[in-house]
Amino acid sequence: MRKPIIGGNWKMNRGSPAEASEMLKQLIPLVKDIQSVDIVISPPFTALYAVKEILESTNIKLGAQNMYFEEKGAYTGEISPTFLKAIGCEYVILGHSERRNIFKETDALINKKLKKALSMDLSPIVCIGEHLEEREAGKTKEIIQTQMDRTFKEITREEMIRTVIAYEPIWAIGTGKTATPEQAEEIHAFIRELLTQRYDKETTDSVRIQYGGSIKPNNAEELFRQGNIDGGLVGGASLQVDSLFAIIKAADKTRL
Ligand code: PEP
Repeated sequence: MRKPIIGGNWKMNRGSPAEASEMLKQLIPLVKDIQSVDIVISPPFTALYAVKEILESTNIKLGAQNMYFEEKGAYTGEISPTFLKAIGCEYVILGHSERRNIFKETDALINKKLKKALSMDLSPIVCIGEHLEEREAGKTKEIIQTQMDRTFKEITREEMIRTVIAYEPIWAIGTGKTATPEQAEEIHAFIRELLTQRYDKETTDSVRIQYGGSIKPNNAEELFRQGNIDGGLVGGASLQVDSLFAIIKAADKTRL
């Protein structure tokens, strides 16, 4: 059985070491006995070091929100995967829709980052998802297929198994409009079909696919109970201890 994964994506919030640590000091004792869910917190780069220290010997893992595909050089403002490894990151979010839409990251660029992350033994969480107009035009599956083909180009079966996919319909991110469990499950099942076409059933059954888009304590459990949804990537609700804990508990409950 796949282990659900709950990722807290703090985006450009809680960037000071003090505020990041403060929240985690409250969360750590609450989740310390949860074994059936992987928990990953991705703070801004400026808080990574402080958060790593707080998370030492806990069951919460550290993730970054982005990285570049080169290890060093004249790339002002970018972050090297080597630095992330050195600081103790295990996960890295790649291709978040905010990176794609605001910073114009393409599938080709994300594919380069993905290959680099895998080569450095970082676990990638790769985001894909459609815009509202694309959904309304009935193009969701077409868009997902294209993103999958391009973003996962030349990714081997072994690499795919080490990669987490986050299906995040863009219209649901930060908007309070969650996909219904049925809408989310349909696309998760479709992503698995695409994985089976490209690899095989065993690979498909091993890849974790999170849902992301306005997950809240009141909708989390129903989403996580869908057979193809393996937890969630959480933005807004990951900024408060109570709501993040409730969402982690919802994922845990689905495995009891
Ligand atoms: C996200 O940023 O990946 C996300 C899903 O945000 P929110 O939960 O706020 O919609």
